[in-house]
Amino acid sequence: MARKTAIVCGAGGFIGGHLVNRLKEEGYWVRGVDLKENEFGNMNADDFVLGDLRDPRVCAALFDRQIDEVYQLAADMGGAGYIFTGDHDAAVMHNSALINLNMVEEARKHGVGKVFYSSSACMYPEYNQLDPDNPKCSEDSAYPAAPDSEYGWEKLFSERLYLAYARNYGMNVRIARFHNIFGPQGTWTGGREKAPAAICRKVAMAEDGGEIEIWGDGKQTRSFLYIDECIEAVRRLMESDFPGPVNVGSEEMVSINQLVDYVCEIAGKTLRRRHDLTKPQGVRGRNSDNRLIREKLGWEPSMPLKEGLRRTYEWIAEQVRRHEAASV
Ligand code: NAD
Repeated sequence: MARKTAIVCGAGGFIGGHLVNRLKEEGYWVRGVDLKENEFGNMNADDFVLGDLRDPRVCAALFDRQIDEVYQLAADMGGAGYIFTGDHDAAVMHNSALINLNMVEEARKHGVGKVFYSSSACMYPEYNQLDPDNPKCSEDSAYPAAPDSEYGWEKLFSERLYLAYARNYGMNVRIARFHNIFGPQGTWTGGREKAPAAICRKVAMAEDGGEIEIWGDGKQTRSFLYIDECIEAVRRLMESDFPGPVNVGSEEMVSINQLVDYVCEIAGKTLRRRHDLTKPQGVRGRNSDNRLIREKLGWEPSMPLKEGLRRTYEWIAEQVRRHEAASV
């Protein structure tokens, strides 16, 4: 049988880099594409195109051979410090929408077998996520739409774009709504990092008995999914007949304070917390609802949060050590 071929958009990023590895393990020929190379050396694609997917010519040139699958993960994205300040709203909407408009159209023109799109839990309405103890994120609760960020609105628009291509052109699409994916080889500093990486970094950099800053009162809740589980879900979704959208997340909901407790325990440090209520925090509560993925794929993640955090903390502590060693 001919080797399967795939394009991974956003292969220079966190999830894209890990997905390339998985597809390679499965025997695929993989073309990665991104604005930048993967900064942690996660560069195992057979072919890597440094290019801007906002440019339709760059997108068109990716299809110079038969492509079986496209995984569209490229987005202008970051954690709360990037998405929720409001400063990047226009760029986030413009850049990510252009990428999706270009890629879905090129995939259609070139008759790609299946197209995966990475949406986000940020598309769920804010009004269902005001109570930290009882957030509602079932797939059917998406409408009436009211995401709390422009990033979420763009995800919703692009979900609809892929679904419209499926309806009108018979395109075979798969859509996952990722809930806080974390793990090694992800952004851990610089302003675009997300909560688990930021907390691991702060704890790794603090002296035992010292103090760290926490954004908000720490009572906001979230769930976090380890990267390997996310990749497994993406591959299972692609192999299934179910288009989604479906949540890909963990149901192990914790408060940010609990997350800090876990990381401190892993690091063996006792730290004071200074809560900064002026910093962006996102919704009060969010948790994945995995009923649909259990029903449709017969699968759900199994790794406890603590285990994923232990692996992530070790990797980030090592980055911090290297960084500090390089700067003395
Ligand atoms: P990431 O920022 O590490 O990866 C995204 C990549 O897209 C980056 O490497 C970036 O350079 C690339 N990119 C941005 N603009 C581009 C352009 N114009 N042309 C080419 N490449 C471009 O983020 P990630 O965490 O790996 O997320 C991957 C996808 O999953 C994104 O679509 C994101 O919105 C979605 N998602 C992630 C999470 C999460 O917790 N990490 C949660 C929900 C959804």
